[in-house]
Amino acid sequence: AEQLLINSEKLSVAGQLAAGIAHEIRNPITAIKGFIQLMSSGIAEKQLYYEIMASEIERIEMILNELLILAKPQAVQTRPSDVRLLLNQVVTLLDSQANMNNVQIITGFDTGPAWILCDENQIKQVCINLIKNAIEALPGGGILQIHLGHQEHDRLIVRFTDNGIGIPEAVLNRLGQPFYTTKEKGTGLGFMVSKKIIESHNGTITIRSKENEGTTIELNLPGLPAFHGSLSPSRSEVEVLGG
Ligand code: ADP
Ligand code: MG
Repeated sequence: AEQLLINSEKLSVAGQLAAGIAHEIRNPITAIKGFIQLMSSGIAEKQLYYEIMASEIERIEMILNELLILAKPQAVQTRPSDVRLLLNQVVTLLDSQANMNNVQIITGFDTGPAWILCDENQIKQVCINLIKNAIEALPGGGILQIHLGHQEHDRLIVRFTDNGIGIPEAVLNRLGQPFYTTKEKGTGLGFMVSKKIIESHNGTITIRSKENEGTTIELNLPGLPAFHGSLSPSRSEVEVLGG
């Protein structure tokens, strides 16, 4: 009975998602069709139409990219990885984008190498989503702090704190719902995808936010204590881990 319940729950989530996708993709397609009609009737300003059509197609691509992450089998490439390293790589990747938006990213890592068993690309995707959301929550610039620490020696905590616009309660309640966005160019999929990835890694994601003050998103992930304190897992440690 429990299994049945889980299946029916999955079905309704899939159904909900499918309805959302159909709607989200139909809008830009309708727009593109309209512009093609206008253009074929010979009205001028074609350059502007091309630009709008290109941005609508880009939007469809963004939605599909995020959906593909959801569709992928979960945690296929699981291996011991150092979260500190992953975070540094992601920050390097997004630092110029942050600078362009006058956002300063400050990292405070209170751990040595912080090992978890994970799919590196998925965890990086989560960090990218959260950092992008923070940058987008700081329209006039500001500070994003990324903190890495331990809790009860076997849990890893990654905290993203921005001093941005914050999240009103009405939005907070809908976060994680597919396609819910407050942004003109948003997909409303980033947070849902992130939550799904963290949960598939046996972790949790929590939000604390205050309007006009800022937002803290906290990831709590199971660490691999066997690896703490070494710079890279040596062969013998990997074997110990594998039993
Ligand atoms: P998107 O970024 O495409 O809108 P997300 O799923 O990433 O979709 O986020 C959903 C919504 O949650 C955003 O539109 C925004 O309103 C809100 N949000 C997420 N992170 C933050 C943040 N750090 N500060 C303020 N609002 C946020
Ligand atoms: Mg986002």
